[in-house]
Amino acid sequence: MTGPYLSLIARIDRFAASVHARYPMQMTCHPTCAECCQAGLTLVMVEAIAVGRALGIEVDRILLQAGQPPLHTEGKCALLGPDNLCRAYEARPIICRTHGLPLLYPDQEGLTICEKNFHEVTPHNSAILDMSAVETALFAANLDFCRRHGYNPSARVAIDRLASLIPPDE
Ligand code: SF4
Repeated sequence: MTGPYLSLIARIDRFAASVHARYPMQMTCHPTCAECCQAGLTLVMVEAIAVGRALGIEVDRILLQAGQPPLHTEGKCALLGPDNLCRAYEARPIICRTHGLPLLYPDQEGLTICEKNFHEVTPHNSAILDMSAVETALFAANLDFCRRHGYNPSARVAIDRLASLIPPDE
């Protein structure tokens, strides 16, 4: 995985940790709460390969899924295990690392916050994540990765197609 993507992950994780530390009573996110884990997610190549590798899927098989639509668009994410935990948690995509945080979509719905969080106080501006900046950084990291490897930077891979390729346990 290339530096720009890893450093973006590190920045998002640091931001999320800071919001959790600052608002421990307002951020109710916890393992096994999978409200945010909905079907239909598609990933840019740098994320598809990061998640796919973590699941033990060969890169050639991941590439064959590029551009294919999701198998399902309703219900829960196909990477959610029977224990309600993510099967790719350590390598989960950027969007999943922002779950539960106060998120600003300047060109769309504005500020969104999970209905389970921030019941008693309003988050300070410095605790709100600007998703347009995140998307721009992810676009740049994906472009860098695709240029290095000769992949199509516009291609996306549906996460449930990755799930369908997980090798069976030995
Ligand atoms: S990849 Fe993991 S964290 Fe992201 S939506 Fe799917 S199960 Fe949830």
